[in-house]
Amino acid sequence: MSDRGPGLLADPAAPTERWGGRKAQQYVRLTLEQYGSVCWLCGLPGATSADHIIPRSQGGAVYDLRNLGPAHKRCNESRGNRAASGPAAIIENGMQFFSLA
Ligand SMILES: [Zn+2]
Repeated sequence: MSDRGPGLLADPAAPTERWGGRKAQQYVRLTLEQYGSVCWLCGLPGATSADHIIPRSQGGAVYDLRNLGPAHKRCNESRGNRAASGPAAIIENGMQFFSLA
């Protein structure tokens, strides 16, 4: 495999798109507008941030409302890159809640 070069294969080491800055703020706002402010991780209202349903580290889309759910900052941070558990896992497996239809 010494002939591997640019364009032949996707680079597995390519960094995932960065989440932050103005673009992320805009998507947080859109997520809260779209889904309301009930935290998808704990089920309580008052979410002020957006969490990636499929973590970025696992290839989840970074800027796609279908992969974002409202979340409290604290819930978001405590989840980290772990798969969701509890009520959120049902949503994660089904995705119906986040259907845009
Ligand atoms: Zn929460």
